[in-house]
Amino acid sequence: MLTIHYTGLKNDVKEFIENIKLVLDNLPKIDQDRINDECMIFLIGKTYGFSVGVKNKHLILLNVNEMLKNKLSIKEQRFIIAHEFAHFILKHTYSNDENEQEANDLVLKWNIC
Ligand SMILES: [Zn+2]
Repeated sequence: MLTIHYTGLKNDVKEFIENIKLVLDNLPKIDQDRINDECMIFLIGKTYGFSVGVKNKHLILLNVNEMLKNKLSIKEQRFIIAHEFAHFILKHTYSNDENEQEANDLVLKWNIC
């Protein structure tokens, strides 16, 4: 099944996700199967960073344009980068309050920012 990941936008993107499914449903079956088995979609919105684990890989998305647009300091940028690395080190595969706190705590422990 095609996985669709998104950050903090659930209600805003409901309709868009329905459109993704509609497009997929209208593709030839052979292509649908490949997409379902091998693709992941990430809707990252305005988040600065996003981190997700899949099988033996961990993907980190960093929205540098949003960071620069909002004039984040170098320290803030480094914190976000480290925060996403922390999710990987902690083997987090999804985001919830507990995982976010744990990642922040590890970044503070690393003391690199
Ligand atoms: Zn996080």
